[in-house]
Amino acid sequence: MSEGPDNVMPENLDVEKRAALWDALSIHSTDIISLVSTNGKILWTTPSGARFFDLEDANWKMKPIYDLIHDDDIKRVKREFYSMGETMGSIVGPVTFRIKTRDGSWRYMESMACNLLDSPSVEAILSISRDVTDRQVALMELEESESRYRRLVERSPESMAVYRDQHIIYANPAGLRLLGASNVEQLSRYPIVQLVHPEDRELAREAFSPVEQGQEMNSVELRLVSLDAQLIHAEIMGIPIIYDGEPSVQLLVRDVTDHKRAKAALEYQTLHDPLTGLPNRALFMDRVAQALNRTQRIGGHLIVMLADIDRFKIVNDSLSHTVGDHILVGVAQRLRACFRPSDTVARFGGDEFVVLCEDTEDLTSLGTLGERLVSSLEEPIVVNNEPFHISLSVGIAESTGGTLRADDLVRDADTAMNRAKERGRKRYEIFDEKTGTEVAGKLQLESALRHGISHGELRAYYQPVVDARTGVVTGCEALVRWQHPEQGLIPPASFIPIAEDSGLIVQLGTWMFAEACRQAKEWEELIPEGRVFKISVNLSARQFLDMGLLATVKDILSAANLDTNRMHMVFEVTESMLMADPDEAVSILNAFRNLGISIAIDDFGTGYSSFSHLKRFPVESLKIDRSFIIGIGADNDDEAIVSAVVQLAHALNLQVIAEGVETTDQLLKLRQMSCDFIQGYYFAKPAPADELYSMIERPFEVPGLGD
Ligand code: C2E
Ligand code: CA
Ligand code: CA
Repeated sequence: MSEGPDNVMPENLDVEKRAALWDALSIHSTDIISLVSTNGKILWTTPSGARFFDLEDANWKMKPIYDLIHDDDIKRVKREFYSMGETMGSIVGPVTFRIKTRDGSWRYMESMACNLLDSPSVEAILSISRDVTDRQVALMELEESESRYRRLVERSPESMAVYRDQHIIYANPAGLRLLGASNVEQLSRYPIVQLVHPEDRELAREAFSPVEQGQEMNSVELRLVSLDAQLIHAEIMGIPIIYDGEPSVQLLVRDVTDHKRAKAALEYQTLHDPLTGLPNRALFMDRVAQALNRTQRIGGHLIVMLADIDRFKIVNDSLSHTVGDHILVGVAQRLRACFRPSDTVARFGGDEFVVLCEDTEDLTSLGTLGERLVSSLEEPIVVNNEPFHISLSVGIAESTGGTLRADDLVRDADTAMNRAKERGRKRYEIFDEKTGTEVAGKLQLESALRHGISHGELRAYYQPVVDARTGVVTGCEALVRWQHPEQGLIPPASFIPIAEDSGLIVQLGTWMFAEACRQAKEWEELIPEGRVFKISVNLSARQFLDMGLLATVKDILSAANLDTNRMHMVFEVTESMLMADPDEAVSILNAFRNLGISIAIDDFGTGYSSFSHLKRFPVESLKIDRSFIIGIGADNDDEAIVSAVVQLAHALNLQVIAEGVETTDQLLKLRQMSCDFIQGYYFAKPAPADELYSMIERPFEVPGLGD
């Protein structure tokens, strides 16, 4: 045995030191050290004990300690203390009990006792006690709150669970129910992420990573899949906790599936067309915007197609609107059936449908898509056993991956769709930059023309019509020109189509007719007795169908007050205008004739009228289109046609005017065919009225005349 350890043993202290140590301990100890008799009387105690038991009070001092112990605890205390038995030095405790203090309040005391009854110098029980009230209360409060909390969790209608190491270790009944489990073991079998919808797993990992490190997290919305395969929309919040002594994550799960469904239903209503169930304009535009976004980030193609039902208004107006609705639904179904589920087919409004296709391979497939749309209505749509033949005009636009906006893309498709309408409907057109700029230019030109018409920028030019036999100018055609302040004189080919599209043609035509009549009055005196001069004015289809035309013409004529023995006004109309509704045409033409206006059929040969129809129309002359005249001397077929037209016209008592005659050869051949009149650069180009004076008075020289 070494010296060191011996020195630290308590027995090694000498008596003096031991006494001093004991004194210090007993005076300063916060524990209560007492000597108690077998019947529970305090024989001696430390100052802490004197304070606790208030031993100043003599009566109190004499009370046996057992009398102060709480009834519910005394038995236990006694049992414990008696178990100490006879053996000297045996120790019991610690035992905790309630003890009454001087002021009547209860304190918790924790005591140990040592049997020193047989120790000759002590002859008592040594007890060491301490006031543990604070600790005990805290403990009880904790127990209380824990059990309260546990009850709360157990009974909560909200689902709660705890997981650790990616496995669920606890779930409250609501949580079990939500996840389709009857006990937590069923859940803890799988890693927790398996309960999350595959598409949301990445999001889940990200969201829960902080809380797994013991940090706070924001709630996250995830789709869960329960054990019984139900899809659950859940709002989930994780809180780091210590569970069973180990860091874990508590989950609060709120089932928002119903809420989501209600919201989705509402969204569906506001984003879908109630009639066809297709997405509406708002949803479509949103999808296009999103798709554009994607293509800008990750590339790929984007195609927007706009399909307009041809002449739907007529169908809708002439039949009941219910039939119209059925047709729209039918069209919607056809269109939906031609595309992949990932493509968006939407109703854009009225009779317009739009399609968005993403990631389509290349431009060659645009035509295929257009073809698919147009041919989707090959078969009639049947409503109430009645077949309706419906056709579509389709415009296609493709995103070039640039900075195109959704609006632009749809506008481009619309431009192309209008082009499809212009080109005869039931077809598709693909938008190209050129079409687009044309439209922009067209709109500018239209407003400039509108301005020009009302500001006197139109001019009337006249081209003489010459008697093929005599060279006498028997009349002229009035041809409009636009004296544009910056661009100079603009030929009608550049603005008549726009005037027709925009409806400005009605105004333009009225001005032209009035101007021609005014000019006729001026020329009137040049015309000798017995000669009739004819001024022809072109009518466009829009004017021909304009209900107000007849009245306007009548007013202008009466204002002009022409000498009808010398001056005749002629309208030039085309075959297609007459053939659109022949019966109607006959009555309009008759009305004109009654006003003293005769009719010439313009551009003859380019349309589809047959001579059998011509007989019905009160027409005075035919103007053979320039395209046939060009062929004279060059194309035998053309020559034969012109010759035949002249003969047939004469058989029907119609006069024939050849247009666009430029060469002597043409003129001679036309004379041989007995063509009545010649109009063309050979004699004169269209010119301002002044230049006509001399022509009216002096006949042209006609080669070969007098042969
Ligand atoms: P159009 O009625 O067939 O008029 C004849 C066109 O042929 C005129 O062109 C005339 O200048 C041109 N022309 C005449 N002789 C010759 C020739 O020998 N060679 C060639 N190369 N061309 C010849 P313009 O004046 O440019 O008129 C073009 C078209 O514009 C007219 O064709 C007519 O359809 C339309 N138009 C002109 N003025 C009016 C108008 O006041 N109202 C309406 N609605 N249309 C008009
Ligand atoms: Ca003409
Ligand atoms: Ca013509």
